[in-house]
Amino acid sequence: MNVLAIGCHPDDVEVNCAGTLSKYASQGHKVIVCHVANGNLGHEIIQPDELRVMRAKEAQNAGALAGIEVVTCDIGDIMVYDSSKEQRDKVVDVIRYANPDVIITHSPNDYMPDHVAVSKLVFDASFAASVPHYKTSVDAKAKVTPIYYMDNLAGVGFMPTEYVDISDFVDKKLEMLECHVSQMKWMRAHDGIDFAEFVKTCARYRGLQCGVMYAEAFTPCFAWPKVVPQRLLP
Ligand SMILES: [Zn+2]
Repeated sequence: MNVLAIGCHPDDVEVNCAGTLSKYASQGHKVIVCHVANGNLGHEIIQPDELRVMRAKEAQNAGALAGIEVVTCDIGDIMVYDSSKEQRDKVVDVIRYANPDVIITHSPNDYMPDHVAVSKLVFDASFAASVPHYKTSVDAKAKVTPIYYMDNLAGVGFMPTEYVDISDFVDKKLEMLECHVSQMKWMRAHDGIDFAEFVKTCARYRGLQCGVMYAEAFTPCFAWPKVVPQRLLP
């Protein structure tokens, strides 16, 4: 299978579904991660231009740990709008490039506007990508692809219907998360937040809910014709 995870900022995918993506990759599936935003405003000291480059590299490092290809739409933080044709077309191009059998993205009720916009962009773009005469720069037609929404940050307001056992992949998930040095270091030093512990705790809690040590949680996007009878999560 081709698996495409579209997160907003570099590190969002690591937080909510890197265990699942590592599991897919270990089973021989091709996994591509796309960051729609470049994370350029994610620091109080480092300037946006410099941070944009740093975070692109951090994302590449994280993907490399699990054999995952990483691409970006390179849109500035707080500049993601689901009403933008230009941005939707960028996501269409990524979907056409990846030709996914399953897409994972943010839930429509996640905690910040860029995430919510990405969720809508992906929903809209996945339809547009399947329309043969809708022209964008990638000249290919993608399938109408089932979408799974990954957990919200800290699980707030998210009621899972699907779980993935990531007990064997939680270390890899945390290793991938630690690649995002600009974020992890800053949060530890200045906010007193150990984000690795935060993320591990969420995975343990989702694990408790489904009777395993660590898990990640999802809900399917219920919209015709994205609903399929077979399980697509690993
Ligand atoms: Zn984010």
